[in-house]
Amino acid sequence: MGRLFIETLSGPKIFKCRCCKVDTASHSEIVSKDFQGRHGRAYLFRNVVNISLGPIEERHLTSGLHIVNDIYCSSCQQILGWKYEKAYEPSQKYKEGMYILEKERLMKEGW
Ligand SMILES: [Zn+2]
Repeated sequence: MGRLFIETLSGPKIFKCRCCKVDTASHSEIVSKDFQGRHGRAYLFRNVVNISLGPIEERHLTSGLHIVNDIYCSSCQQILGWKYEKAYEPSQKYKEGMYILEKERLMKEGW
C-alpha cells in the first residue's frame, strides 16, 4: 500500500477525529444535528473526508430499514459513524449518500 493521503479542510469550523486529529468534516456540511448514533447524539453531513467504508449491510434504524456501511477514520481506523447508501422510506430518501458522524468520536479545534 502507498502512503496514506490525508485531506485537509479549510474554513473556520472543522470537526476532527478525536482519536488522531485528522480533519473529518466541515461545519458547513452539516445537514442536521438531530440524529441518534450508537453512542448518543450524531450529526448528518453531506460530505466527509479521510474515511474508509466498511461492508454494505441492511440495518434497521429508528427511521426504518436502510442500506448502510460503517465509516472508519482512514488514519486511525476508529469507527466514526455510518453512510446511508439506500433508504426505502420515501421520506428518508434525502439521506442517501450522506454520512452520520457520532459526536462523541469528533472534536472541535479552535472554535
Ligand atoms: Zn482518526
